[in-house]
Parts: sequence; C-alpha cells; structure tokens
Amino acid sequence: MCDRSLNQVIDFAESDKNYVSFKFCKLRNISFAKKLIQQETITELSGAKIGDKLNSMTCGKRGPVLLQDTILLEELRQFDVERIPERVVHAKGGGAFGTFIMTHQQITNYTKAAMFSHVGKETPVFIRFSTVAGELGSADTVRDVRGFAIKFYTDDGIWDLVGNNCPTGPVKDPIRFPSAMRSRKRNPRTHLPDRNAFWDFASLLPETVHQLMFLFSERGIPDGFRHMHGFSINTFKLVNAKNDVVYTRFFFRTNQGIKNIEPPVAQRLAAENRDYSIRDLYNAIENGEYPSWTCYVQIMTFEEAKNWYYNPFDATKVWPHKEFPLVEVGQLILNRNPVNYFAEVEQSAFNPANIPYGIEPSPDMELHGRLFSYVDTQRYRLGAHAPKLPVNRPNFRTVTPTIRDGKGVFDDNFDGFPNYYPNSYSNAKTDKHFVDPAYRVTNTPDVDRYDTTDEDNFDQPKIFWETVLNDKERKNMIQAIANHMKEAQLFIQRRAVAMLSGVHEDLGNGVWEQLRQLNTTRCT
Ligand code: NDP
Repeated sequence: MCDRSLNQVIDFAESDKNYVSFKFCKLRNISFAKKLIQQETITELSGAKIGDKLNSMTCGKRGPVLLQDTILLEELRQFDVERIPERVVHAKGGGAFGTFIMTHQQITNYTKAAMFSHVGKETPVFIRFSTVAGELGSADTVRDVRGFAIKFYTDDGIWDLVGNNCPTGPVKDPIRFPSAMRSRKRNPRTHLPDRNAFWDFASLLPETVHQLMFLFSERGIPDGFRHMHGFSINTFKLVNAKNDVVYTRFFFRTNQGIKNIEPPVAQRLAAENRDYSIRDLYNAIENGEYPSWTCYVQIMTFEEAKNWYYNPFDATKVWPHKEFPLVEVGQLILNRNPVNYFAEVEQSAFNPANIPYGIEPSPDMELHGRLFSYVDTQRYRLGAHAPKLPVNRPNFRTVTPTIRDGKGVFDDNFDGFPNYYPNSYSNAKTDKHFVDPAYRVTNTPDVDRYDTTDEDNFDQPKIFWETVLNDKERKNMIQAIANHMKEAQLFIQRRAVAMLSGVHEDLGNGVWEQLRQLNTTRCT
C-alpha cells in the first residue's frame, strides 16, 4: 500500500522550488530528521551554530544570567509560544495515514470525481479520530460522539469528509450548533462538566434525541477508534460525466467489527489509561495490524428527494438502508503513523468546503454552517495559511495567486506574480470544464426563518428503539441515561423524560423509574 507519498511531496518540491518551500517539505522526511540528529551541529533559528545548549551564560557560577544569552532567550521564547489554541470541539484526537482503494465500479455512474475513476484507483488519505466535548488532555474512554474526519489527497485536490461515528448530528440548523456544543462542555461559572445544561438544552430541542439514542447505546463508548463505523452525517451531491446529479451519504463500516467498552471498564480506563484510543490505534499500526473500513454510498435521486416523507437534508435523520441500500465503493486502510504529532495531527485541519470536482454540497443546512465555520476556526487556531501546511495541502502545486499574504507566509508567495485577476501578465486562467452544473432551486421558495424544530423528531428514534436494539441494549440504555441525568434538576429531568417518552413510553418510564431509585429525595 502506498502512504501519503512523502517522496512525491519532496520530488515535487525539488522540481519546483519557486512555489513551495523545500525546507518546509523536508519536515516530512524521516531520513532527513535522522541525519540531522546524527551529523549536524545544532543551530539557532538564525542558523548560527551553537557551542553549548545546556548551560546559560551567567556572571559567576551562581548567576545571575545575562540577557545577552541569545541561546537561552530563544529556548525560552519558543517554549512560551509552542502551544496553539485547542480546537473548540474535537480537541482530543489521534490520526494516521493510509490509502483509499476503489474496489467497485458502480460509483462511476454517479460521479466524475477523479478518485472514483476506475477500480484499483488508489488515493492517499489521512484520518483524524477524536472525542467531541473533552479538552486536549481528556480521557478517551468517555461516552461521547467520536469524530471520523477523512482527508483524501485526490488528483483533483483535497476532499475533506468530516464525519462522525454516529450517523446523525445533534441539530438540524447550524444556528443551534454552538449552543448544542456549549451545553455539553463546561459550566461558565464552575468550569465543571454540566449535565444539567446537557439535559436542559437537549429537552428543549427534541431534535437532539436521535443522536442521544446513539450516544446512550452501547456504541456511545467505542473500544478505541478501530472498532467503530464512520458516517458522513451530511448529504452531498454526486455529479457524473454527463452532469447528471444524485444525492448521497457516505458510510464506512469497520472491518474490525463493532466493539464497545462497558461503562465501569471505561471509567477505570479513564483513570488508568486516558489515551486508550490513541495508543490502540498507534500500536495496531506499528504492529502491522492495519485497520480498515469498507466504504459505501447511499443514493437518492432528485425525484425521490422531492417525494420522501422526511427532509432528506436533515442531519438529524438517517436514510433507511432498505429504501436506500448501501452501494459498495472501496476500502480505506490506515498503514502509517504520523512521524510528528504536532505537525501532522495537531496541525491537521479539515474543511467540509474542500470538495473536489464531481462532489458538491446539497441543500443540507447543517452542512452549510460547516462550510463556513471549519475554515473560520482554523484561521484562528492555525493562521491564514493553514491550508498550505504539508498535512493539509494537495500533492500538487495549487495556483492561487490572489490568495496570499497574511501572517506567517512560509513560501515564495508567488514572487512578483500579479495578485489580482484577471491580469495582462500571466497565462494562469480558469477552465470552463470545471464550472459547477447549473441547477434549479425547487419552486423558488420564500426567504424566511422557517421553524424546523418540530419536524418528525421521534419517528426514527422510535424505529431504533423498537427494531434495532435488543432487550439487553434497551435496559442498558435506560441505565446509562438515568446515570447521566441524575445530576440534572428535577424540572429538567421531568422534561427530558417526557421527551424520551415521545420516543417510546417504555424508555421514558424506564428512565423515570431508575431516576427514582437513584435519587429518591428529588424524584418523589
Ligand atoms: P437497519 O437495520 O438496516 O440499520 C440499523 C443500523 O443501526 C445499522 O447501521 C446498525 O449497524 C446500527 N446499529 C445496530 N445496533 C446498534 C446499536 N446498538 N447502536 C447504534 N447503532 C446500531 O435499519 P434502518 O436503516 O432502517 O435504520 C433503523 C434505525 O437504525 C434508524 O432509524 C436509526 O435510528 C438507526 N441507524 C440507521 C442507520 C442508517 O444509516 N440507516 C445507521 C445507524 C443507525 P450494524 O450494521 O453495524 O449492526
């Protein structure tokens, strides 16, 4: 299997030093790092060779130190700035490189995307897995949704499919998303995790219940990152060579099999082995046990979308498999650990707006919020040039003469090439072949703030409860919800139980019964 071809990057850099900083690309070259350690004299950032990096320059053996010790100053200054803001969500994670291999031809009927051109086509990938609510140092074995963000280095540029291990998102409308996340993070006054806020928000917006059903199922605490599925959550469009368009959702089924951790074991691991999932992924790859997933798509035509009894672009809904069967596409295999965590995992930045030719956003509102906010937060976290960092950029030279300058330019920045378009001094131009196909917005609807909070919030969670879970899983879910909800105030418990009863009265009654036992003084 090929990895995200380091040599390609370096060859490219060597062949075209005008556009890419060669030294920066060398960051990815392990042998270069080894050589550095074995042979070179350590320098300051200026390049000045260093004679002593263990002893500060002092006046007398006992000090004080001298401000003119530039080696000391540089060491301290660097340490002061070497942490960057953590991600506002999905802060804790691990990642690995690998390959996507197309194994089935049918997808070609639906998309002209280069990575789906023919069976056997390989595309390098990087995946970052994460928890959602916890901070950088938080435990891996918590009950939480897991991020499953895939970066495909396609021949037509980066494709970031920023998915989760849960098939649905928490809310339908992006304006509700920041509050959904805040309610799952720390209380602004106490700085403690706040289950009262969690259930307050959730019970005021019942559209959250579908994701909660997954979260409090046994799959809410997966056994590491290798034993869970990945879902695109959002709906996309696929456009084929004839410009015919269908809607799609992507699904990655784990080939390792689903495996979850029992809550008491998860709690013990959270104390004894906080980095359980990152360690598991790293060790598996080091031991040659490469984790893999089978990729599928679901396909919905425009006509079906118009007539479907749910809004197909609602991120809190799934597309039932019986109505929209899984179409197999390929295999995703992870086979190389990062050589530098900070450069390759912490600096990795996924942007749902990175979509190559042949794949397009659908009207999915939640996706539209994500098209804006991911890159926005990355500019805060990593700076204006985040997309140009080695882990984030395509395996070929990008031609972006109007997108340059800003803090931290680290390449030639297109030299004296005109920074406006069009201009009379260069041949770089657009290509009509890549124009998005035109499409019609149905019935030119009125612009308004439509209330979507009350749309079919319970039907799919009910199906999940009645037909997917078995008796033991239902019992475990009741227990898990009650254990979590017991910290909420009574009026919030009542409202949340009413919401759960909307899914199924057995669920509501079961949770209420458990709460009475866990906290008799509050619930009687
Ligand atoms: P299916 O029976 O075809 O699919 C059920 C899905 O639920 C499968 O993907 C299955 O994964 C997954 N699942 C099974 N057990 C659990 C569990 N304990 N916790 C979480 N997920 C589990 O039916 P439908 O497609 O008609 O969906 C029925 C309901 O299943 C939906 O309303 C939704 O709530 C839920 N669901 C649907 C998914 C979809 O994309 N259609 C995806 C995930 C959940 P596996 O195949 O590994 O057993």
